[in-house]
Amino acid sequence: MLKDKIALVTGASRGIGREIALQLAKEGAFVIVNYFGSEEKAKEVVNNIVKDEGKAIAMKCNVADSNETKSMIDEILKRYGRIDILVNNAGITKDSLIMKMKEEDFNQVLDINLKGSFHTIRHCSRQMLKQKSGKIINISSVVGVMGNSGQCNYAASKAGVIGLTKSIARELGSRGIQVNAVAPGFIDTDMTEVLPESVRELAESQIPLKHFGTAKDVAETVLFLAGDKSNYITGQVIHVDGGMSM
Ligand code: NAP
Repeated sequence: MLKDKIALVTGASRGIGREIALQLAKEGAFVIVNYFGSEEKAKEVVNNIVKDEGKAIAMKCNVADSNETKSMIDEILKRYGRIDILVNNAGITKDSLIMKMKEEDFNQVLDINLKGSFHTIRHCSRQMLKQKSGKIINISSVVGVMGNSGQCNYAASKAGVIGLTKSIARELGSRGIQVNAVAPGFIDTDMTEVLPESVRELAESQIPLKHFGTAKDVAETVLFLAGDKSNYITGQVIHVDGGMSM
């Protein structure tokens, strides 16, 4: 389905991004597995893909840094000539109540979660415009839609991702480029592993399907948005949250 498509997945060394990379590769895409701190884990993702006769390479880049992101994308274009699928998945949390939130923690979350997506899209868009095609998928969050106590920085970044998605979908739609967001609810990864049991139980009680989702649940939706079956969909936010945000 995605044979010979060139796909960049940011933050693909672990969690949801890892699963997205594996799924895209399984469908035939050549996947650039971006990572920042987890080099060994990124290499393990690439080895997994190659073992199954897929194609992938790992590339280190801090997406919060515009110059580094430009260098990564220039390198991809130099080597492979195009970018068909861009998945903006890299993200972090730095939780705290507003009274105690440090400005640097607010900034860091915005820099990675929101500006990281701005940087990749900005540096890929010239090539996608030339190609007159491209699928951009941004990972937002249920928290960007509903808000969450203790996560004002994260919620602002993920709400920002939705605004970014809709604006760029309007800008680039006439050139055959689709831009959509996926808003996961609570998904079992390193990010949610740190939640105290009481918070987990409370969250589960608020999810109509009564359990956390898996990285695969999110990756399947990204796969749909990356492929031809979603060709008439743009500017949308697809909720993968067990019904939490309805
Ligand atoms: P995770 O397991 O903590 O993984 C985060 C990934 O982001 C890692 O691969 C990490 O790479 C990468 N990353 C962090 N900072 C980066 C940077 N500056 N540059 C490049 N990559 C960077 O998180 P996850 O749960 O899979 O979350 C993935 C995405 O889904 C995030 O955007 C998150 O906000 C969103 N999301 C998650 C949930 C959930 O419940 N898990 C719910 C809604 C939305 P390194 O380790 O290599 O640094």
